[in-house]
Amino acid sequence: MINITLPDNSVRQYEAGVTSLEVARDISEGLARNVLAAKVNGEVRDALRPISEDAELQLLTWRDKEGKAAMWHSSAHLMAEAIELLYPGVKFGIGPDIDNGFYYDIDFMDYDISEKDFGKIEKKMTELAREKQSFDRKKVSKQEAIAHFTDKNDEYKLELIEGLEDGEITFYTSGSFTDLCRGPHIPDTGTLKAIKLLKVAGAYWRGDENRKQLTRIYGITFPKKKELDEYLLMLEEAKKRDHRVLGKELELFTFSQAVGQGLPLWLPKGADLRERLEQYLKKLQKEAGYEQVITPHIGNINLYKTSGHYDKYGAESFQAIKTPVEGEEFFLKPMNCPHHCEIYAAKPHSYKDLPIRYAEFGTVYRYEQSGELHGLTRVRGFTQDDAHIFCTPEQIKPEFKSVIDIIDLIFKALDFNDVKVQISLSDPDKPEKYIGDRSNWEKAEKAILEVAEERGLNAVIKYGEAAFYGPKMDFMVRDAIGREWQLGTIQVDYNLPDRFNLTYIGSDNEKHRPVMIHRAPFGSMERFVAVLIEHCAGNFPLWLTPDQVIILPISEKYQDYAEKVLHLLKQQNIRGLIDDRSEKTGRKIRDAEMKKIPYMLIVGEREENEGTVSVRRHKQGDLGSYSIDDFARMVNDEVEKMINIK
Ligand SMILES: [Zn+2]
Ligand SMILES: [Zn+2]
Repeated sequence: MINITLPDNSVRQYEAGVTSLEVARDISEGLARNVLAAKVNGEVRDALRPISEDAELQLLTWRDKEGKAAMWHSSAHLMAEAIELLYPGVKFGIGPDIDNGFYYDIDFMDYDISEKDFGKIEKKMTELAREKQSFDRKKVSKQEAIAHFTDKNDEYKLELIEGLEDGEITFYTSGSFTDLCRGPHIPDTGTLKAIKLLKVAGAYWRGDENRKQLTRIYGITFPKKKELDEYLLMLEEAKKRDHRVLGKELELFTFSQAVGQGLPLWLPKGADLRERLEQYLKKLQKEAGYEQVITPHIGNINLYKTSGHYDKYGAESFQAIKTPVEGEEFFLKPMNCPHHCEIYAAKPHSYKDLPIRYAEFGTVYRYEQSGELHGLTRVRGFTQDDAHIFCTPEQIKPEFKSVIDIIDLIFKALDFNDVKVQISLSDPDKPEKYIGDRSNWEKAEKAILEVAEERGLNAVIKYGEAAFYGPKMDFMVRDAIGREWQLGTIQVDYNLPDRFNLTYIGSDNEKHRPVMIHRAPFGSMERFVAVLIEHCAGNFPLWLTPDQVIILPISEKYQDYAEKVLHLLKQQNIRGLIDDRSEKTGRKIRDAEMKKIPYMLIVGEREENEGTVSVRRHKQGDLGSYSIDDFARMVNDEVEKMINIK
């Protein structure tokens, strides 16, 4: 008999060889129907695999990331099976699960394939799924594996087998399709109730542009049709909110091939918006005791050798800049931290000076492959809302609190209401993986957990996910259409203070190492603005939006009055413009709605005589007549309310 320990720490006894699915069935039939895979002693496996020794068991369902992954990877097999039946003789590359669904890279030989064929393939997949085909795992020798795919004439699989050790090769068979695969897979195809192929694209074999281009077909599956429908609706909505499209329409940013890929150019309206975000954060930081610093965009290569960033970014990023003088080499700044360490080291510090908080909107450059670039979310140059806090181990807790306060205010001011936190801690079983004093780690981790508890943060704790140099806390927001984005981060660092030999004199008159905390509430301005655009669909909060007001004179006769109104509003810090085209008012209103300007002020004879404006709100319609002062007060009250939430 073996002992199976479940996540609630209850222990059940079974004969050796019991499968995870059988354990699930023993708990409840309903649970068994939902089991997709299982985590056995930390390893994700097929739910059908026998367990031969005492084990900790976690049953994985659709709600678990690994459960989804097993289902989507199994869906890739199902798609391959359908395609092999419909297009005999095609050859298969790789077919992994991805964040949202799966793909398979396929050599379609002489067959022509396009999105028009999706319906046919989906139909076949649905038919096969209904057969409830099981995924059968089989260990094979390298020789058998080679024989199988030589028979099939599939040079791609043969190349993959070359890189595998004899003794570790497994095949999975479902229905008529056998794949080289290490799994894990779901028990059977019956779970794949809703199937949708999404996209076809070219993909070079092994990502090498000198090799053959295969056809990549993307798809996604769900256990229920309703979930698929919701997903497709979300995709539609996401398309409408694409920050690359809205960024162009709203004249926020652009890219130029002449300047270079992945290097955003901020247009006046975008720069203005970004400036407001920066000013807002600067104000909060000033109140929290930060000091602003400015550092150059490049640094001597030795600086990054000292920091260790050269090891990380050196060969894989932009190459060193050489000077006319022999032996002088500079590197584009991939991180601001080394520069801030040097600022700290510029003078001696006493414990009484700590914490010291240096903040900088620091622009950094990191190479990304051109295929990885995406609008403002993946770029080659970006500005971090960076700051580094140098403090004593005892100050970690209050500093975390203060950073969380700032992040909290920002998220509220920008209407991100669904925020999750991930706390990444060390693996208590492998203390040797981490640098720095163990007791300091324990203190820091305890402090972080306490802060999360005291703040009532919606936190997931991940042991073993900490960087080798310190534990951290990441902030994830769910946007208006349900997508999750990782934004801000707070990271403890025991490494850089060591590498830069940073010290302070303690109350004992001895030298001590400060702890360094890296933090960036937005992450980067580029990525944050992209997420914000998609979150609010370009309808920025009133305090942030480029133009708060547009004045629409009903004819040329009222142009002077429109200008007078604009002038008065500007005096009250309201941003606006006049639509002075000789278009009909209806047309002007429609265009202003398209530009997502929050307030439209219509002015004509009556307004001029009474010194008023007729107010329309974007997406809401007519709000009636206001005196200019009353209107200005309403706008400024609304702005105040959003940026001064406490
Ligand atoms: Zn597989
Ligand atoms: Zn840093």
